[in-house]
Amino acid sequence: MTSTNSIRGFRVGSYASHENDAGQPLAQRFSVQYFCASGHVTEPSFSIDADPEEIPEEWTCTSCGLPAGRDASAPPAPPKNVPFKTHLDYLMERRSTDECEELLAEALEGLRKRRGTAR
Ligand SMILES: [Zn+2]
Repeated sequence: MTSTNSIRGFRVGSYASHENDAGQPLAQRFSVQYFCASGHVTEPSFSIDADPEEIPEEWTCTSCGLPAGRDASAPPAPPKNVPFKTHLDYLMERRSTDECEELLAEALEGLRKRRGTAR
């Protein structure tokens, strides 16, 4: 059994080519891990021929859409402005709370009047 070491070495060395046989040219690509503030890990792969400077510092998380960074201990902060606003949010931007309450009071008054005349 003097060939044990060479067999073991052959198996380790042939692992990559075995993956290639499965249709995945792993030797041609490498993956980079990006971490988002929600704790997701996004792992896009890049060609080994790519310029290292072309590897972006941030990647959009494929799980939640937040920006993800390459430093797991310091993921990028989620954007502060929430893209989705409710109709009430837009209303509150245009009018103060007092105006809203005034409008609400008018609306209720009108509703009560209509109910009153209907009876
Ligand atoms: Zn995420």
